[in-house]
Amino acid sequence: MSERTESESRKLLRRLRDTLAEPGAGQERLDHITHLIADSMQTEVCSIYLFRDDETLELCATEGLKKESVHQTRMRLGEGLVGRVAKTLAPINTADAPAEKGFRYMPETGEEIYSSFLGVPIQRLGEKLGVLVVQSKEARAYSDDEVYAIEVVAMVVAEMTELGVFIGEGEALSALHQQPVMFRGGTGQEGAAIGRVWLHEPRVVITNPVADDPTREMERLNAAVDKLRLSVDAMVTMTDIGDKEQKQVLEAYRMFANSRGWMRRMEEDIARGLSAEAAVEKEQSAARARLETVPDPYLRERLHDLDDLSNRLLRILTGQGVDTGAELPENPILVARNIGPAELLDYGRKLKGVVLEEGSVGSHAAIVARALAIPLVIHAEKITTEALNGDAILVDGDQGIVHLRPEDTVAAAFRDKIAMQAAAQSRYASLRDKPATALCGTTVALHMNAGLMADLPSLVGSGAEGVGLFRTELQFLIRNHVPKRAELARLYSGVLDAAKGRRVAFRTLDIGSDKVLPYMKRVEEPNPAMGWRAIRVGLDKPGVMRMQLQALLRGAAGRPLTLMFPFVAEFDEFRVARQMLLDEVKRERQLGHLLPGALEIGAMLETPSLAYAPDAFFEMADFISIGGNDLKQFFFAADRENEHVRRRYDMLNASFLGFIRSIVRRCEASKTALSFCGEDAGRPIEALCLAALGVPTLSMRPSSIGPVKHLIRHVSLTELGKLIETEIGAGTTNLREPVLDWLSNQDI
Ligand code: PEP
Ligand code: MG
Repeated sequence: MSERTESESRKLLRRLRDTLAEPGAGQERLDHITHLIADSMQTEVCSIYLFRDDETLELCATEGLKKESVHQTRMRLGEGLVGRVAKTLAPINTADAPAEKGFRYMPETGEEIYSSFLGVPIQRLGEKLGVLVVQSKEARAYSDDEVYAIEVVAMVVAEMTELGVFIGEGEALSALHQQPVMFRGGTGQEGAAIGRVWLHEPRVVITNPVADDPTREMERLNAAVDKLRLSVDAMVTMTDIGDKEQKQVLEAYRMFANSRGWMRRMEEDIARGLSAEAAVEKEQSAARARLETVPDPYLRERLHDLDDLSNRLLRILTGQGVDTGAELPENPILVARNIGPAELLDYGRKLKGVVLEEGSVGSHAAIVARALAIPLVIHAEKITTEALNGDAILVDGDQGIVHLRPEDTVAAAFRDKIAMQAAAQSRYASLRDKPATALCGTTVALHMNAGLMADLPSLVGSGAEGVGLFRTELQFLIRNHVPKRAELARLYSGVLDAAKGRRVAFRTLDIGSDKVLPYMKRVEEPNPAMGWRAIRVGLDKPGVMRMQLQALLRGAAGRPLTLMFPFVAEFDEFRVARQMLLDEVKRERQLGHLLPGALEIGAMLETPSLAYAPDAFFEMADFISIGGNDLKQFFFAADRENEHVRRRYDMLNASFLGFIRSIVRRCEASKTALSFCGEDAGRPIEALCLAALGVPTLSMRPSSIGPVKHLIRHVSLTELGKLIETEIGAGTTNLREPVLDWLSNQDI
């Protein structure tokens, strides 16, 4: 690239900036800049197309084409050369446009006389804004230098569009981030919330894309990169040597931070007149555009790394930290690309909901959201580019849908739905101290699921008899080291204090595979849910489990202790784990420590195999808790995290109900206490059927206790049990309809 082209480019950018600094309407500015670009690049035509909606581009200004076609000529995304540039976010450079694949002739523009065509996307961080085109009569391909120059100009136009410089009349010139947008993602945690957007990482705003002094910008860039390198080096050194995976990510970071190619492109951008931050963002935008087309997961990860690194660099350059000093809005809904469990827990119950671009049902964030009982939508693609802090937002965790800046009618309907739920909850409050006794006289014990100390206050308010499932993994997930035994003992003791004598069933660590602890060595597994998890890890590497068992024994401090082992697939696993616990009891006795007043040792039945375990297993287990979430996924061979299949099979399927009935019978025969603690226990119809089949205890999230109790108190479980028997006997596949029909005839 020659000095001359560089200074030409800088001159053009300066003229652009000066034009845009003058007062004027959006249209005038657009007209002016198309004129400037055509003049500077010595092409006959320069046009700017902007989106009027997600799918349609509109010619908004032109130098060279017929003026009448402005705001009249439109094309769909992917249509014609302009539509293709916008769709692929890649330039098209051709000497003979009409011969190019996909060319579409637009007679109203008078473009037939122009042969060469160069179109580049106007985009910002993967957000498609429009297309910038130059054309000329002479049949020639534009040089790489010219393509580069026009890309730099497009970058400035993108920044200006984002800053609202071109706002004017008509859809195509309307302000960005004002329209309602709906995102269809996946359910991470059910529930509905209404509130205002709180961006976990607010976007960096660039107000000065053009700079006068390239030497100074180069110095600023170099200084920022040095700072970045130092911070990455420090992170690499500080990371625990044992954590190979994290180290690899950081090494990848370091590779980019030292990458000559990345630096060179940014230096070239600066030489052409961009400011250091605009140069960083230009390369970041290019990387995001590539991200859309790269199928290889490894490369995608690396592009994500580059994206993260660019964000850090932008924050260094602009001084805009993550903490903008802004106050958390009322009813904050957190919006982020992804978030770690500890950070999410820091926000805690202040949040009304969470929306993530990435994440998965089994991710750490989802586990925390579940524990906090706040709705979570995952895979809401591009929401961080669209949402602004403070935007109104509705989160429908049941459907996995998010409405950003919703229309009034949508917001009103949503508000009604939430109000109805709240009203129902307050009606259930009167049931709090009443038992869940059905008309036939059967009483069902209702317990709640928990995982945080902060959950315990709901125990009294919800009317739960105890905690049927205390998920202990959260305390392990949120730290970057194994928690200390004394620390855990204190926590377990605090949980029992808060439970005030009510029974708490602590589940030992259910971790491994996809739920990898930050400090645990990762094992790549093709099917993590069926992999090395839960009790399998505890038995193979007993160190952590022993420590946890000791902490539980000490936490009980003389009080009764209930604990259960997750994911037991065969009798021997339970026998060995139970023996481990008994060994620890012996050891505690020898040490002269106080022992629990009583000890109940149970197993979670989460794999069909355990239902067929020998009688001796049922006799040895003090209780069995059905983990319906896992049991269902293995019974139907349908991944609970896979959106394509996770709702495909209904718990009210006759085979599944028959299977539950056989577990009930085995437990009855051996007089083993039985409970069910999967999500289905909290769904009123499902809960009713479980109770009718003879499951005596149900454990669910606290907010479900009211609705489930209400329903149980209004029906005869014996009658429903008979109906289920008849339907199963008659060969009905799914009992939902007959059960709903039967319910509609009850007086509820
Ligand atoms: C279950 O599998 O039903 C269960 C309660 O455990 P988790 O959801 O934590 O796997
Ligand atoms: Mg489970």
